[in-house]
Amino acid sequence: MLLQTIILTVVFATAYAAASNSTSSTMLETIVTTVASIIGAAVVVGLINQQQSISDSSSSSSRQRKSKRDDSSSSDDISVEGSVMVTLPAWALASWEDYFTRKYTTDEEMMSLAIHLSDRNITEGTGGPFGAAIFERHTDNHATLVSIGMNRVVPLGNSTLHGETVAIQLAQRRLGSFTLMLDENKEDGLFYDESHDDDEKESSTPRKRQFELFTSCEPCAMCLGATLWSGVSRIVCAATKDDAQSIGFDEGPVFEQSYEHLEKAGIQVTRNILREDAAKVLQRYGTSGRIYNRG
Ligand SMILES: [Zn+2]
Repeated sequence: MLLQTIILTVVFATAYAAASNSTSSTMLETIVTTVASIIGAAVVVGLINQQQSISDSSSSSSRQRKSKRDDSSSSDDISVEGSVMVTLPAWALASWEDYFTRKYTTDEEMMSLAIHLSDRNITEGTGGPFGAAIFERHTDNHATLVSIGMNRVVPLGNSTLHGETVAIQLAQRRLGSFTLMLDENKEDGLFYDESHDDDEKESSTPRKRQFELFTSCEPCAMCLGATLWSGVSRIVCAATKDDAQSIGFDEGPVFEQSYEHLEKAGIQVTRNILREDAAKVLQRYGTSGRIYNRG
């Protein structure tokens, strides 16, 4: 476990260094280096887990258990206690370069990726019918992809791994920050609201970086909360809560006031972008998929 922790630390430190070194390397280099590091981590951890599983299987006092999964196409290993792994399916990593080198400008272009992830996740049997993606919107209005996510609840045995939460976790890992409230002109990178702070004198003008969360379906109660704490500036939704509930999912206590709360907190809310396309994916899943949070 110690070795695993050290390796993960080194690998993610490399990824973070690559991601934050945008002044001396191109964005493509940064992405390639980061992806290579993440894939490297997955391979290394997978090998270690495999060795641990083999050695533990011969020990009657083993505290590790393998959970039964219905995801035979995935190489995910969730057998290690004392740590949690959040992984993307192999097909998503294989398409990484395609996703991250596309040009994104319109809401529809960005939402198309989130819906594609939800659809492919069903086809590949790697989770529920929900996809998400986080983009950084630049001043000239074009956007770059920061992270992707898709529902991983059943394959990874983890009720918190919805598309939105996976995308948020991977974005924060990549940016090396617990929040996406970031300021491009600050040394520590964090954005502060200084409108009420007379003592704070900064020579540079604060400019909050704009991160936008695109989700193939309006968020459940958990993901609304995660969105609020994530630091994103905007959430954009395709299918509605009713679309998800119509195939049996329980979205929890989500109210119009919930969205008003987000907007009061400075998070712009946009809904019904490509709703019909996203709803079709939900309906396809509803005919045969597993409803893990049944309403
Ligand atoms: Zn959710």
